[in-house]
Amino acid sequence: MFLDERKLLRIDLSSGKISREPIAREDLRKYLGGRGLASKYLTEEIDPKIDALSPANKLIFAGGLLTGSNAPTGGRYMLVTKGPLTGTIASSNSGGTFGAELCRTGYLVVIIEGKAESPVYISICDDAVEIHSAEALWGLSTHATTDKIIEEMGDARTRVACIGPAGEKLSLIAAVINEKHRAAARTGVGAVMGSKNLKAIAIKGSGSVEYRNPEEAKSTRKELTEILKKNPITGEGLPTLGTKILDSIVNEKGLYPSRNFQFSTFDRVNDVNGEALVLRGYLKKRSACFACPIACGRNTTLPNGRSGEGPEYETGWAFGAACGVNDLMAITEANYICNELGIDTISAGSTIACAMELYEKGFLPKKDLEKGPELRFGSSEAVVYYTQKIGLREGLGDKLAEGSYRFAQRYGHPEYSMSVKKQELPAYDPRGVQGHALSYATSNRGGCHVRGYMIALEVLGVPEKLAPQDTIGKAAWCKFYQDMTAFIDSAGLCVFTMFALGIQDYRNLINDMTGFDFSAEELMEVGERIWNLERKFNIAAGIGPGQDTLPDRFLREPIADGPQKGAVVKLEELLVDYYKVRGWSVEGIPS
Ligand code: SF4
Repeated sequence: MFLDERKLLRIDLSSGKISREPIAREDLRKYLGGRGLASKYLTEEIDPKIDALSPANKLIFAGGLLTGSNAPTGGRYMLVTKGPLTGTIASSNSGGTFGAELCRTGYLVVIIEGKAESPVYISICDDAVEIHSAEALWGLSTHATTDKIIEEMGDARTRVACIGPAGEKLSLIAAVINEKHRAAARTGVGAVMGSKNLKAIAIKGSGSVEYRNPEEAKSTRKELTEILKKNPITGEGLPTLGTKILDSIVNEKGLYPSRNFQFSTFDRVNDVNGEALVLRGYLKKRSACFACPIACGRNTTLPNGRSGEGPEYETGWAFGAACGVNDLMAITEANYICNELGIDTISAGSTIACAMELYEKGFLPKKDLEKGPELRFGSSEAVVYYTQKIGLREGLGDKLAEGSYRFAQRYGHPEYSMSVKKQELPAYDPRGVQGHALSYATSNRGGCHVRGYMIALEVLGVPEKLAPQDTIGKAAWCKFYQDMTAFIDSAGLCVFTMFALGIQDYRNLINDMTGFDFSAEELMEVGERIWNLERKFNIAAGIGPGQDTLPDRFLREPIADGPQKGAVVKLEELLVDYYKVRGWSVEGIPS
C-alpha cells in the first residue's frame, strides 16, 4: 500500500463499536500524520475543557506520514490526547517498532473513545480488530503484560504497547510502554489509557509499503543515511555513548542541574556519565528503533543480573544529579522500575528531587515518609524506594504520583516544583541558555526539551553557534526549531536527525516517498500550523499566555555555581520578541 493510503480506525470502548474511515489527502498535506494529524482530530472532536481522565477524552495513536517506511528513523509514533498532568494538549512520542507495525496493518491513526466497563486490551491484526478481556492482566508489570499478550496471540512478532500499575492507578506521570523498554512517557498519557480501562494494544500487520517515486525514494534514502553516518553527532557521538554523551558536555558548560536545580554543575558527573556506563561494564550493546542507522539505545545489565534498556541522558540526570545521587547502579535500577511499572522517568526523578528539597527545608514532615528512607539529597536508597512507591501508589508514593507541582503545592510550597505548566523540566538549567529557556516557557505540552531543542545552537553549535546569554534573535530561532520539530514529529521521524539533516533533505524524502510536492517553505508552514493548533487548544482549555513562564527560581535566583554563575532568565524581553515573530497579539494570542 502507498504511505498516503492508510486509514483511520475508530474504537469506542463504551459501546464496543469499531469503524474505519478514509483519511483525506488534503488533511495529510496540511498535517502530514503523527502529531499534526492526531492534533487535528483531537481539537475537532473533544471540548478542550473536559476532564482529561473522563470518558469524553480521546486517546489517539498515530504513525507519521513516513512511519513504517524505510526512511532513516521512520518508525516513530505519537500518542495524542488531553494531558492530565498539564491540562494542555498532550502528545508523547515513542520509537521501537510498534509504530511501524501499526502502519503495516493499513491504519495510520487509531482513535480510542469512551471507557470499557472492565479492563480490556485491543488486538489489531490487519482488518481483524478485537476487544479482549484484560482482567487477568490488570496489576501486572508492562513486561509481564507484554509476554502474556504475545503468548495469547501466538505470534512472537506481535508488538505490544501497554500501561503498568502506574497507569491503572491514574498516576499523572504514568507512561505507555511499547516493547517493554520504549516509552511514550510525557504528560501522563498512561493515566488516560488507564482511565479507559485499556491495558494494552497488540499489533500484528502484514502489509508492505510502496513509494510513489520508488527510484528517487531509494536514492534519497541512501543519500540521507550516508549524511547521518558521516555526521559527528549522529554517526559517532550518539552511536558510541548514546544520549549520555551529553552529561559531561552539559556539566562543563555549567548547565547540568543538581539538587533540584539549586546548583548547575555536579561534581560527581564522572560517576554517572556515558563513559561510566561503559567502564562499569553495564553497557552490553547498542540498540536501534525501526529503520534507524543511528542506534542510540543502550542495552544494559547490572552486576545483580537485572537487565533492560537505559538509562538515557535525561533519565540518568533525573535520578542522578537532580537528586544529588552518584550511584549509577541505583539510577539504572530506578530506570528499570519506571519501564516495568510504566512511569515517566524525568517526572519521577524530578518529583523525588523536589520532595528532597521540601524535606531538607523542613516543609515535608518525617512522619509523612511512613516507614520509607529519609528524603535526603544523595540517597540512592530513597531514589529506588520512592520510584517503586510512585509506580504502585503506595505510602508517600501515592502523593508523589501526582507530579512535583501538586506534591509541592500540597505542602504549601509549589515554588520548589521545577516545572512548566505543571510538567517537570528536563536536564538543562534554563538560566544559562536564554533561547532554551524561551523554548521551555512556551512549550505547548509543558516542561520539555524536544519541542524546540535550542541546546543544539546554544551548546553544540549546530547548525551554528549562538552565544547562550544573548537574547537578540533567539525568538526567531526558537520558533524555527519548534515548527521544524512539529513537522518532523508528524512525518514519523526522530528529532535526532535534525543534527545532520536540513529542511531540503526532509522535503526530498517526503516528496519522493509520498508523491507530494511540498516546498521547504510549505513544510515549515505545516509545522507552524500544528504549533498554532496546539496553542489554540490550550487557550480554550484555560492554559493561556500567563502560563508561558518558568519557576521563580530561574527568574529571580541567580545560578550559584559554575561557568554560568550569576545568570537568570530574561524572560520578559524574550517573550515580547517571541509573540512578535509568531505573528500573535502582544498578549500571546494567535489570530
Ligand atoms: S536515534 Fe535513537 S531514539 Fe532516534 S530513532 Fe534512532 S535509536 Fe530511536
